[in-house]
Amino acid sequence: QGLLSNKVAIVTGAASLNGIGRRTAKLFAEHGATVVIVDLDAGAASAAAESLGPGHLGLAGNVTSRDDCQKAVDTVLQSYGKVDVLVNNAGITQPSKIMDITGEDYQRITDVSLRGTLYMSQAVIPTMRQAGSGSIVCLSSVSAQRGGGIFGGPHYSAAKAGVLGLARAMARELGPDGVRVNALTPGLIQTDITAGKLGPEMKAEILKGIPLNRLGEAVDVANCCLFLASDLSSYLTGVTLDVNGGMLIH
Ligand code: NAD
Repeated sequence: QGLLSNKVAIVTGAASLNGIGRRTAKLFAEHGATVVIVDLDAGAASAAAESLGPGHLGLAGNVTSRDDCQKAVDTVLQSYGKVDVLVNNAGITQPSKIMDITGEDYQRITDVSLRGTLYMSQAVIPTMRQAGSGSIVCLSSVSAQRGGGIFGGPHYSAAKAGVLGLARAMARELGPDGVRVNALTPGLIQTDITAGKLGPEMKAEILKGIPLNRLGEAVDVANCCLFLASDLSSYLTGVTLDVNGGMLIH
């Protein structure tokens, strides 16, 4: 039996073919969850949901829109009656230097990770509270901890650091209601965010700083999402799980 049988899980930003969200959605489905993918494009979200097998749902939604988040959750509640798990995975990055960040860049990058995590969480919290249970998993980044990952600028680091604070504050507030909130801080994971941007020399240089001596795969992060989403982590809330091959041992 799967670790998520009879659970309904929403994963945002899970349309991207090689992404962390898509891999997480696949793993959740393999573990018996009914998965709802929320992503920008309706067709891409539906196609991604169909690729998981029958019974899953793909919805168009921009997580920076409070309306879109609410509509998506309303649809899930109408279809399945509950939400057990939310993975706040949608996120975008930009490799800018501090002086090059415009107001528009700042807004775009911080909005998806930070405002998106706030709005999607706000949309599921009432039903989770009512149920007295739920798990929210928030995608931060090693970039938040070490002041820049490899491809993210300072505004991305700030957004992902904000996600850590938001996740911890939600964990504290929602704990008494039985709702757990935890964060993941992946290191360098090979997805479309990194595809084509990593030459062999740069890769060798990066590997020097990773004790496990390999870059991460989407499944490495998906496995941690599964752990935090499932009852295996029933006594964990407010934690930050480093998924980085040892890049930041301290
Ligand atoms: P990806 O680009 O493959 O996927 C991101 C998905 O988010 C896409 O499907 C995109 O359409 C969707 N999206 C973007 N803006 C959206 C919005 N406003 N509303 C809804 N969906 C939106 O990225 P990925 O590498 O799989 O990253 C997933 C998450 O993990 C992100 O939050 C990212 O910051 C984080 N992360 C990634 C890495 C890495 O190395 N890849 C490392 C640390 C953290």
